[in-house]
Amino acid sequence: MSEDNSQGREYTLEADSELRFEIEQKNAKVLVTLLTGFAELFGTELVKKKKYEFGVGAKVAIFTYQGCVIHVSGQMDVCYISKETPMVQYINCHAALEQFRLEAEQRDKRGPSVLIVGPMDVGKSTLCRILLNYAVRVGRRPLYADLDVGQGAISVAGNVATILIERPASIEDGFAKTAPLVYHFGHKSPSGNSVLYNAVVSKMAEVTLQSLDANKRTKSSGIIVNTCGWVKGSGYEHLLHAARAYRARAIFVLDQERLYNDLLRDVPANVHVVLLPKSGGVVERSKGLRHESREQRIKEYFYGNARTPFYPFSFEVKFQDLRLYKIGAPPLPDSCMPIGMKAEDNKKKVVAVTATPALLHHILTLSFAESTDDDVIGTNIAGFCCVTEVDMERQSVMLLSPQPRPLPPNALLLWSELQFMDNHA
Ligand code: ATP
Repeated sequence: MSEDNSQGREYTLEADSELRFEIEQKNAKVLVTLLTGFAELFGTELVKKKKYEFGVGAKVAIFTYQGCVIHVSGQMDVCYISKETPMVQYINCHAALEQFRLEAEQRDKRGPSVLIVGPMDVGKSTLCRILLNYAVRVGRRPLYADLDVGQGAISVAGNVATILIERPASIEDGFAKTAPLVYHFGHKSPSGNSVLYNAVVSKMAEVTLQSLDANKRTKSSGIIVNTCGWVKGSGYEHLLHAARAYRARAIFVLDQERLYNDLLRDVPANVHVVLLPKSGGVVERSKGLRHESREQRIKEYFYGNARTPFYPFSFEVKFQDLRLYKIGAPPLPDSCMPIGMKAEDNKKKVVAVTATPALLHHILTLSFAESTDDDVIGTNIAGFCCVTEVDMERQSVMLLSPQPRPLPPNALLLWSELQFMDNHA
């Protein structure tokens, strides 16, 4: 039931407790002000007397280590104080990572690569945010890698991305997503093309581990890696692959003892596997809600948000000018492959896509690769377009794009399974 709190109310939080709230109603707005004491939102400190605004979809917890008084006004669907939080365990994990970082600093070695794993909706992205915030607050500059192609915390879903974290996440907007390294995958689950997923993860790990060496501070700070919530069968194999690719020093397992035991058995003994509880505040999302939040991220990519609106452009591209490809050809038995090639290689093959009405609403990734002879899988991407119309008579498509100009002459576009219905009037 929704709680109308338009007059506002003060909440007094004891040490080690948190105020949790959710906003589900459209156009609802909640204002939060820290009046006294110290408080943080997923690791970012609140500034006293500053008003923070949250809108629909917000599911947050304001935690305090010392105790505080917060003023909250607006319409919320859920709002309560909880004294049961795993924050002390989380800060202990941060302290352990700091030990690794100090060690790395002294020996001029790479800092820890840490994988955050667990089933869906256990707070993996939130734990990444907390650990990254704590790291920057003590002067570190870690990398944040997001391998969760189902949601896309850095880029949009269907891609694997890494950013350098230089300052704490904004309370309202999360981490600044400037200059990310993004590799195209094109599916919303690794099962869409397992071979390609592992290849993209390997490439991302190789490039980012190397990039650590370019800056002394980042080198000792290490990488925090967010992973997919698919932890059974092939999903588990993908986690093991990621742990190897990133040369993980530690794996933090949220909530699932079975996964923890499997990892203890399967990773080398020098990798620290730690089981952590999930927070009771983490909100479970239905399939529909996951779909919605994926769409919301894509919408934000094109249209921004209420605080920073963007105004995308639409332009026509003739079929003949559309250099559209897809990664992964249909499987063939090994016996039908050219000599020296395996059926697996087909899964990483770049194949041309013919324009048909089936392209409608699909997201197309604009690659920095100039031709299919380049390493398309391992080339950063420039951005995304969305097909808003396919006109078979005019032999053209309309593309929605953040860029005003038509596509660069040699633009290479990659087909993605992701779709976005542009009904932003
Ligand atoms: P996925 O399986 O999609 O990758 P996840 O395991 O990464 O999910 P999160 O995205 O971290 O889970 O958390 C799910 C939702 O719960 C988010 O909207 C987050 O803001 C919210 N959440 C996390 N921790 C808390 C908390 N302590 N109190 C209230 N809400 C929370």
